[in-house]
Amino acid sequence: MEFFCVKHKAKVEIPDDQVKVEVKKGRKFYTATCPVCGTKVYRIGGRA
Ligand SMILES: [Zn+2]
Repeated sequence: MEFFCVKHKAKVEIPDDQVKVEVKKGRKFYTATCPVCGTKVYRIGGRA
C-alpha cells in the first residue's frame, strides 16, 4: 500500500502485512511506519 511520508516528503510503499487499520469516529485510517525514516504515516481509508 502506498503512503505519503510528511517527514521526508516522498511516497513510500509498505507491504500490506505491515499496515494497521484503525477506526476513529466512523472513519477508517491505515497506519504504518515509514521504512525510510521511521515516522508514523497515515492514510484515510474512507468510511468504516
Ligand atoms: Zn519517511
